[in-house]
Amino acid sequence: KNLQIAIDGPAGAGKSTIAKAIAKRLELFYVDTGAMYRAIAYKALNLNIPLKQEEDITRMARQTDITLEHSEARRVFCDGLDVTEAIRSPEVSRSVSVIAAYPEVRERLVELQRQEAGRGGVVMDGRDIGTYVLPDADLKVFLTASSEERAKRRWLELQQSGKRLSLDEVQKDMEARDHHDQQRAVSPLVPASDAIILDTTGLQVEEIVERILNLIKN
Ligand code: C5P
Repeated sequence: KNLQIAIDGPAGAGKSTIAKAIAKRLELFYVDTGAMYRAIAYKALNLNIPLKQEEDITRMARQTDITLEHSEARRVFCDGLDVTEAIRSPEVSRSVSVIAAYPEVRERLVELQRQEAGRGGVVMDGRDIGTYVLPDADLKVFLTASSEERAKRRWLELQQSGKRLSLDEVQKDMEARDHHDQQRAVSPLVPASDAIILDTTGLQVEEIVERILNLIKN
């Protein structure tokens, strides 16, 4: 069987940075499941579909084609349109957990995620990878970090892409999103019972990657 690594955790815990680095080292596909939820939220905002209209959002999600590029650039396409940068906007970040709570939106995206995993070994990051998407993954890691550190990481990323939000605003948005992700009825954000919980507060990326690679060897 192909190697499957699940990386879950709250916003800003370092999931995508770590998952990409591991995928590169082990020559596995990297699948960013958050990008898929973000693409649906982005499309809803773009089409002015009110986020509360679950049926309309669900119908739209079923008709949406999402592709994740596997080359270094890792572009994200939604119905053939490059949405890589657009899905990182604060507006999308604020909206995404609403649509991510809809069971049928999740069903549709999980189907795409399992298809990706069927193509070969993967490192997949998200919220429910270890608990639901890949229950038989070879390794499940749940990354955490203090709320302050996670907010600071997110804030820095946003600064670098030219978005001027205050640290306080970023932390509030992030906490609201995590709360929503933890409280939803389907696939809430929670570590799998067999996940290894890794607190990354104060750790460098390389250190975290080495620890995870060691877990695979053992
Ligand atoms: O990982 P990222 O922060 O880009 O995810 C954006 C949002 O997508 C999360 O806050 C969550 O609401 C949703 N999501 C999810 N399940 C996943 C991945 C992301 O519900 N597996």
